[in-house]
Amino acid sequence: MTTIKLHNTKSRKKEVFTPLDPENVRMYVCGPTVYDRAHLGNARPVVVFDVLYRLLRHVYGPDHVTYVRNFTDVDDKINARAAESGRSIGEITSETTQWFLDDMGALGALEPDEMPRATQYIPQMVAMIEDLIAKGHAYAKEGHVLFRVRSYTDYGKLSGRSVDDMIAGARVEVAPFKEDPMDFVLWKPSSDDLPGWDSPWGRGRPGWHIECSAMAYELLGESFDIHGGGNDLMFPHHENEIAQSCCAHPEGGFAQVWMHNEMLQVEGKKMSKSLGNFFTVHDLLLRGMPGNIGVPGPVIRFVFLSTHYRKPMDWRQSFAVHAKQRLDIWSSEVAFSKHIRKEFEDDIDSFVLKYVDKEVVDALSDDLNTSLAITHLISLGKLLEGAPRRQLSSDEVEHVQKRLIAGCALIGINLFEYEDALPCFEVDFSNWEAQLIEARELAMQSKDFAEVDRLKTVFKNAGLEVRMSKEGVELFPGPDFDPAKLEALK
Ligand code: AMP
Ligand code: ZN
Repeated sequence: MTTIKLHNTKSRKKEVFTPLDPENVRMYVCGPTVYDRAHLGNARPVVVFDVLYRLLRHVYGPDHVTYVRNFTDVDDKINARAAESGRSIGEITSETTQWFLDDMGALGALEPDEMPRATQYIPQMVAMIEDLIAKGHAYAKEGHVLFRVRSYTDYGKLSGRSVDDMIAGARVEVAPFKEDPMDFVLWKPSSDDLPGWDSPWGRGRPGWHIECSAMAYELLGESFDIHGGGNDLMFPHHENEIAQSCCAHPEGGFAQVWMHNEMLQVEGKKMSKSLGNFFTVHDLLLRGMPGNIGVPGPVIRFVFLSTHYRKPMDWRQSFAVHAKQRLDIWSSEVAFSKHIRKEFEDDIDSFVLKYVDKEVVDALSDDLNTSLAITHLISLGKLLEGAPRRQLSSDEVEHVQKRLIAGCALIGINLFEYEDALPCFEVDFSNWEAQLIEARELAMQSKDFAEVDRLKTVFKNAGLEVRMSKEGVELFPGPDFDPAKLEALK
């Protein structure tokens, strides 16, 4: 059997991965808070842990892996969004949850086996909090319940900090109901206008960290194999999860291996709204390429996987252009092999088992070295081009095609479906934008804005948002964008 090695944040070493139960390998990854579209950074852990999920299924069998990723659907950011938009919390969370699943599906992410929502596990959270109080690790005060951090001597081990350093460096909230500034909230009171559940401490709602401990325990047990998330979650979220779970279930070990992905940046800079380089996944899928066409989901995945998950990664449009060129070639190399496609689609897992190169599996098994796996796939792809291809018999060509298809499938890229992922509207918006600018310039002289208004109306009716400023004009397709409605302008 393939040996998988994973870097464990807990030991700061790459270790041989030995599942607690090879019949049921268990992984938990912290999921999104559902109040808005996922930004590009949010997609990184999804893609990284999707590759790990695929590798585990490949090595242990698809029926022997359980992957859980939660949805945080109770949170103050959601409450604030509801208050400012006048919409109900349920409407916002269910819409955002579906957006997340659609966007991540476009990136080729398999759905986890379980996707628990926090609001479905309130009784389990209350039970865990009661247990923590009974064991002396938590206390109730003024409608709040707090975790007593000093009662857990291993607190801070994951991120390698001492409690005293954390107090000195962190923005810890000092509150009159806290015994110690480091203590964190397990439960807090809710006013009538906020979501709340009855509890032994009055009507209230959970703190953020307790949901992952309660849901991981319910769905994976007191010990499981892998826990993942972005490295921004290591402290305090993951430290708090460990403290809660290990104190409530001291007989279990909670997660054996902790894995953290590094952050994503855009064109060399931290992604932020103020720098104007903040993208949602949806934005990129709709118009992230030069010429304002959409970036196909598999291209986004390819760019992500070209950097190792423990290194900061940079999103650059030029990387997407190169990745697209490569995937365009690969998919066209295999597109006409109807019988290979049939064999592939009949049973993708068996196809991968049969044809994937050992180099790809070995690279992924070495702490998810996706960039090395891609380097190998690039050398395979080259065999199918021009002169090298002419030196191969047709059987040999077919074999290389199968190895390439299988290798791509293991990293979550389906070359046969790639064509379907290409943006359906390869519209070059710059022509329409230029037309509007010209009309505006004429109107400035003639003072007759009828043509400008007509164009704006056509764009709006086609589902485009028109942004006009002194610098120029930009058109943004909204969710209802219908390029057919632009025909009238031609
Ligand atoms: P949040 O919704 O902010 O709790 O984040 C959801 C997930 O996205 C977490 O696993 C974060 O670590 C991850 N994440 C957030 N921002 C980035 C980023 N810029 N790069 C990579 N991962 C990120
Ligand atoms: Zn979590």
